[in-house]
Amino acid sequence: ASAPSLALSSGTSIPQLGFGVFLVDPADTQRVVEDALEVGYRHIDTATGYNNEKEVGAALKASGLARDEVFVTTKLRNDHHKARDVEGAFERSLEALGLDSLDLYLIHWPMPANDFYVDTWKTFTSFAADGRARAIGVSNFEIDHLERIIDATGQAPAVNQVELHPIFQQRALREFHAKHSIVTESWGPLGQGKYDLFGMASIQVAAAAHGVTPAQVVLRWHLQTGLVVIPKSNHRERMAQNLDVFGFELSADEMAAIDALDENRRVGGNPLEVN
Ligand code: NAD
Repeated sequence: ASAPSLALSSGTSIPQLGFGVFLVDPADTQRVVEDALEVGYRHIDTATGYNNEKEVGAALKASGLARDEVFVTTKLRNDHHKARDVEGAFERSLEALGLDSLDLYLIHWPMPANDFYVDTWKTFTSFAADGRARAIGVSNFEIDHLERIIDATGQAPAVNQVELHPIFQQRALREFHAKHSIVTESWGPLGQGKYDLFGMASIQVAAAAHGVTPAQVVLRWHLQTGLVVIPKSNHRERMAQNLDVFGFELSADEMAAIDALDENRRVGGNPLEVN
């Protein structure tokens, strides 16, 4: 199974289903990412803050896959926002990953209280201009943060990676993204195991109807909603299961039943508070 790609405003494209490595222990990361690449993932999502870029790089190298076969994202750490720190942080990420360029470089959190993110974004546009980042984007940005960086530079991010799962569907933000050709990427797509998503009736009913697992139903909902999705698992079997979601389709009624689960309730960090 391999995932279809979505076009990005940068002119490149992103595999719609990728593999995230948040909270994957550095000691396990090379093995986990090698497994993910072996089962067929071609999109890896890491961050400097996850402390495992070097091990992701080692797995990419060990896989023997050509550079253009794998889409690689990493993110600027929160304490590197100041203009004088951004360039060095970017170069250290490339070096740790063993790459000459990134497919996507994200500002990890806006940290609006510090109010550096507009200047940080200006520096990001230089990475896109010189080709070291094939696409640039942001993460955890809210509408007013997006408006400010677009007003300041005329350049919208290619992607905004945000918390998104059935009880937190980010409808207003997605409408704004659509107007500005920003692709929405779901983090915590399975709710990070923080609530009983897999036990919800509409998820269970759809899983039974298609003979798949609740996790597969949820991932299918993200894909059919037009989102990029990056589930994480340390276990090879679940990695394969999470990628095996292109052989069935949720009906309009099944999609509507999951749409109806939205409570506008986040389970992860609030972008206005994380710093
Ligand atoms: P997730 O929603 O992907 O949940 C992961 C957990 O779900 C796993 O630890 C496992 O316990 C469970 N799981 C996975 N597959 C399963 C299956 N098939 N059946 C049953 N349980 C299963 O949460 P996440 O890892 O936090 O999010 C995914 C990725 O998003 C991260 O790895 C990271 O790359 C990214 N992320 C980004 C941010 C950000 O601020 N930009 C924040 C959090 C996560």
